[in-house]
Amino acid sequence: MQLSSWGTTMSRLSGIRSIMDDIAATAGRQSDGAWCNLSPGNPAHIPEVVDTWRRLAGEALREDFFAAGGQYGPSRGTNALVDAVVRYFDAAYGWGIGPENVVVGPGSQLLAYMAVNAFTGPTAGGERELVLPCVPDYTGYQGLSMAEGGTAGVEPVVVHEDERRFRYAVDLDAVRRRTSMGAMLVSSPGNPTGRCLDAAELDGLIAIAEERGVPLIVDHAYGQPFPRVVDAPLAPVFHPHVVNCFTFSKAGLPGERLGFAIGPAEVIDVLVSFTANAALHAPQLVQTAAARALDSGDIDVLAAKTINPYYRAKRLTAEELLHDRLPESVDWRLHSSDGGMFCWLWIDHPWFDDLDAYRELKNRQVFVVPGRHFFVPPLDTPFLAGHGRRCIRLSLSGEEDVIARGITCLGDVLTEQQRNA
Ligand code: PLP
Repeated sequence: MQLSSWGTTMSRLSGIRSIMDDIAATAGRQSDGAWCNLSPGNPAHIPEVVDTWRRLAGEALREDFFAAGGQYGPSRGTNALVDAVVRYFDAAYGWGIGPENVVVGPGSQLLAYMAVNAFTGPTAGGERELVLPCVPDYTGYQGLSMAEGGTAGVEPVVVHEDERRFRYAVDLDAVRRRTSMGAMLVSSPGNPTGRCLDAAELDGLIAIAEERGVPLIVDHAYGQPFPRVVDAPLAPVFHPHVVNCFTFSKAGLPGERLGFAIGPAEVIDVLVSFTANAALHAPQLVQTAAARALDSGDIDVLAAKTINPYYRAKRLTAEELLHDRLPESVDWRLHSSDGGMFCWLWIDHPWFDDLDAYRELKNRQVFVVPGRHFFVPPLDTPFLAGHGRRCIRLSLSGEEDVIARGITCLGDVLTEQQRNA
């Protein structure tokens, strides 16, 4: 059977597909201590979070089973959830939005996929590309565009903060040089780095989106208002050229596939049609539970009192372990973090190769993610050919002993690789 060009593009083994394969390889095996998985974006199983969602899902099941689960509903999302989102965001940010500005989808990944393909690829004005304004960024963005080679990543400016710490900055001039842009997409706080856009960067990207007449899609998967794994105060903005994506995944429901987007009505309307055509609508029982979480304020309690402090503590522990267990003689640097669920490490030596390190760690039953998956291939610029192969991502959502074991193994691997170099 002959695959179409879209079929060929979508069937390639992407970074996200290999992460999902690693999740499958370790699923159910963490408990016997065999695998040490510092790879997935799965949120941690925090007892208070699990209890709250179990209670809310139980209420939805008891009280709304037929209304929510027993019949088809609106492609925009259930009235209960859409109205709850409108009330919640108006109260939090004073946006003055209405239901026409909201669409609920089966996960924010699918919402991003729809938004990207609605504005990039072949258009009446020629091929338009998806621009990632600051790579490295979420590896799941690379499989979104159905156009072959339809995604361009813009290299960041690297800022050295001290001998163990660095940071990327958005190169707005380089973003502006992308001439055939159809949409921009950025995560903030970012996966893998934990960096948040600052006000000047966000304003700069919005100005470019306006100049080019394209949407800027901002992915708040880890940010405000929930799960709020973020310490930087920059709030999301409502703007005619900004589509904001939010998800319940990192607030404890990754398996239920529920996200929503807020943006200008004409863009949201496109996404509602896309949803109707591709999926009819998102699952509804979980929408009922999510509406209850927003209306009751339970989601704010979880975000502020449980999820945010949990990851802040994990991050501190991981940083201490890195300083304690990685060899003094190795030039490793950590991206300074504003939030998120990961540590992004740069091992600045020609002998370090992220894929070799991944394989070596996997032999010791430790999973990390090779850094190259977060840069848009081909890694053919001098910066990416070097830097793009010298980074790895570690997840903070495992138990402390798993993180400690993984970082200890990483220290052993680095010591051996340096000795053999
Ligand atoms: N955006 C980012 C930055 C992510 O890291 C992830 C998952 O890891 C997603 C989106 C996917 O979110 P969802 O589960 O809502 O599809």
